[in-house]
Order: sequence, then structure tokens, then C-alpha cells
Amino acid sequence: MKHIGIILAAGSGKRMGGDVPKQYLEIKGKPIIYYTIKAFEESFIDEIILVTRSEDISFCEKEIVEGFGFKKVTKIIEGGKERYDSVYKGLKAIDEKDCYVYIQDGARPFVSEEVLLRARENVEEYGAVVVAVPSKDTIKIADENGDIINSPSRNTVWNAQTPQVFLKEKIVEAFEKFMKEKEAGREVEITDDGQVLALFSDLKVHLSMGDYSNIKVTTPEDILVAEKFLEKISK
Ligand code: C5P
Repeated sequence: MKHIGIILAAGSGKRMGGDVPKQYLEIKGKPIIYYTIKAFEESFIDEIILVTRSEDISFCEKEIVEGFGFKKVTKIIEGGKERYDSVYKGLKAIDEKDCYVYIQDGARPFVSEEVLLRARENVEEYGAVVVAVPSKDTIKIADENGDIINSPSRNTVWNAQTPQVFLKEKIVEAFEKFMKEKEAGREVEITDDGQVLALFSDLKVHLSMGDYSNIKVTTPEDILVAEKFLEKISK
């Protein structure tokens, strides 16, 4: 079966501030999205679907895909309002009937071959995996007044990363159920793909060990960290 990547770059990056979405900010002279696509391009992934804002499609075509000579990007499509809308559009753009789908944040540029290979091995066994790392911090659950109501045991808490990888059939089925719920006006809060599967499928989602350097560039200080990681990788 083929391994298809969906790289998400349709967010506006509100938490970063400024006008340029985080995935297009530059580290060491190249946009973050370049590093993310490069990681997929140089791996076993067969094909990449890039999801971006409509106003960025031609920039992605000319400056990113043609400009850097990426060969595996077969489609550049318009995303949606929420991350899950962009994922759903990406899923619908896959022509392959049976395949594995690797959903990746465009703003997560340092996903390594090792993490991708481990995710591949795990998805071939379990059908649904979320790459994650054990939480280094103690997590607090608080109520709306800011009073702590719970501190989950640290050895059960993981920080989810991407890729999140699924058998296409399973993730499409779960997303279709989820979208029906949304259309019916029911509120379902979703920030990643594993949640959609956990809520709308009977398949268990398995953890696949990620890497602490597989960061998502979200707030300005992440840029500084990303520059340091890049220096280390390119040494
Ligand atoms: O906002 P968040 O940090 O969860 O975004 C993760 C990734 O999803 C980013 O690469 C962003 O560009 C992408 N995204 C998207 N469509 C949206 C929102 C976010 O493709 N509507």
C-alpha cells in the first residue's frame, strides 16, 4: 500500500502574531514549510498533498514546489476554516483507494526519518497512530476560574505531535461521521486527528514514540529554538 502525506499549511498563525502565517516564516533563509516538505520528500512517503490558504496556492506552486524542485507534491489545494476542515479537504483529494495517510503540521519542520519509519511500522500493525512524546511537565486541569481540579499522573500524559497516521478507510469513515455531527449543529471540540478517530471509530489509536526536537513552531520563541535545532541538524 502507498504512503500518502497531507501537509497542513492553511492556518493563519494567530498565536505567532504578525501577518505571515507561521509555516511561511523563515528559518536560516528558507520558509518553515520547505523543511517540512523536504522531510517527507526525502523519506519513503510516495506522494504529498499540500493544503494551504487560497491566497498562498500560487506562491506554494512557484516558490516552494517548483522553486525547490519537490517532486512528490502532486496537489496543492485550498484548506478550510479550522484545522479539521483542512484535513477533511486533504483526505478527499486522495485518489488512492487503499493507502496509509500521514497527516502532518506544516509548522512542524523537524520530523525525522526515524520518527516517520516508526510511525509506519506502528500503523501497519495498529491502523491508527499518533506520534507523541511523554510530557516533561506535570499537567494541570483547571476550571474556568483558574482553580486546579486535577493533576493527571505524569506517566499517563503524552504530548501529541504529528504525523498522525491512519488507514485511509478508517480516517475517512471517522471524519465523515464527525462532519455529519457538525452539520447537525452539535459541538465537538477537535484539535487533532487522533481525537476524531477516538470519537467516531471503534479502532483504538496507538501511541508512536516521537522526538522532543519534532516541535511545532507556534509562538515567537519557537523560532529561536528552531534555528538552534537546524544548526545542530545541518552540522
Ligand atoms: O493551529 P495549529 O497549531 O493546530 O495548526 C497546526 C497546523 O495546521 C499548521 O501547520 C497550520 O497551518 C495548519 N492549519 C490548517 N488549516 C487551518 C488551521 C491550521 O491547515 N484552518
